[in-house]
Amino acid sequence: MVESIRKDLFSICGERGVLFDEPLSGHTSFRIGGPADAFVMPRDEEQLEKVIDYCDRNEIPRFLLGNGTNILAADEGYRGTVIQIFKNMAGFEQNGTEIYARAGILLSALSAVCAEQALTGFEFASGIPGTLGGAVTMNAGAYGGEIKDVITGARVFEPGRGIRDLKPEELMLGYRTSVIKHTDMIVLGAGIRLEHGDPEKISAKLAELKEARTSKQPLEYPSAGSTFKRPEGYFAGKLIMDAELAGYTVGGAQVSEKHCGFVINRGGATAADVNALIAHVVKTVEDRFGVTLEREIRSLG
Ligand SMILES: Cc1cc2nc3c(=O)[nH]c(=O)nc-3n(C[C@H](O)[C@H](O)[C@H](O)COP(=O)(O)OP(=O)(O)OC[C@H]3O[C@@H](n4cnc5c(N)ncnc54)[C@H](O)[C@@H]3O)c2cc1C
Repeated sequence: MVESIRKDLFSICGERGVLFDEPLSGHTSFRIGGPADAFVMPRDEEQLEKVIDYCDRNEIPRFLLGNGTNILAADEGYRGTVIQIFKNMAGFEQNGTEIYARAGILLSALSAVCAEQALTGFEFASGIPGTLGGAVTMNAGAYGGEIKDVITGARVFEPGRGIRDLKPEELMLGYRTSVIKHTDMIVLGAGIRLEHGDPEKISAKLAELKEARTSKQPLEYPSAGSTFKRPEGYFAGKLIMDAELAGYTVGGAQVSEKHCGFVINRGGATAADVNALIAHVVKTVEDRFGVTLEREIRSLG
């Protein structure tokens, strides 16, 4: 990246807020991905707005990243600037049964806060490894709950339109989708509304969900969670298992034998391995059952 861009990004986010030629494998749960030209970690909304404005004025491609837990990053990396909203933009405020949290907070941390305050309704999110911003974008959900059930609104930044608050209905939350996913909006924070609960019941629920995940999901390997969306009327994992693809391997990528809905990185997997494996799975399931699997994981680069 040219020296003047380096200097400009440093001047916006400070030397500790910018990395160059940064391997994306270190920022994705799949542990896959080549270097991003620049990787910036804004500390606040002002820095975020400035860095986006800078990229857009200079026609530098940009990609908004959370904790990278739903991402397949290209082996070639990313020719542009990855902007990460994570630990630097976390934190929350509580008002009774309502919590407003910044987009970079991890769902696990937010769920721990809820449990400490004896607030119930957010237990479903405790084992989802992403940030609140990523969860709103994907309308993340598990075990019968989803972001849509608890959200009271989101604060978003849209280049050219500035910052505004969106009501739940304006977020257009659906199965693993939202208005954010299909526009250039960036989630800065979101409110959730919960209920007073019994601390023991909340702890028991958290333990039960943790056990359900560890016993059924291949958490011992890097992955990006469920590779495919749930096709209407089916379960992706079951279709893949019935197609006898459990353990199917391409390079370092494998269909998990523990849960066929997960593609795992057995060591040294590349994005090319994962893409080839996904293509084979999609074709085989289509040929066998006439059902087209759609990717849930998002591509970077
Ligand atoms: C082991 C494992 C288990 C999982 N289990 C579940 C599960 O049970 N349920 C579930 O729903 N998901 C699950 N996931 C997938 C993933 O954790 C969720 O999709 C999560 O919401 C992604 O959050 P993230 O911060 O990692 O976002 P990223 O993966 O970094 O990004 C995901 C998308 O959101 C966008 N994005 C991220 N932050 C923002 C922001 N602030 N503003 C605008 N756009 C943004 C990105 O551009 C990208 O398009 C799992 C993943 C793993 C690895």
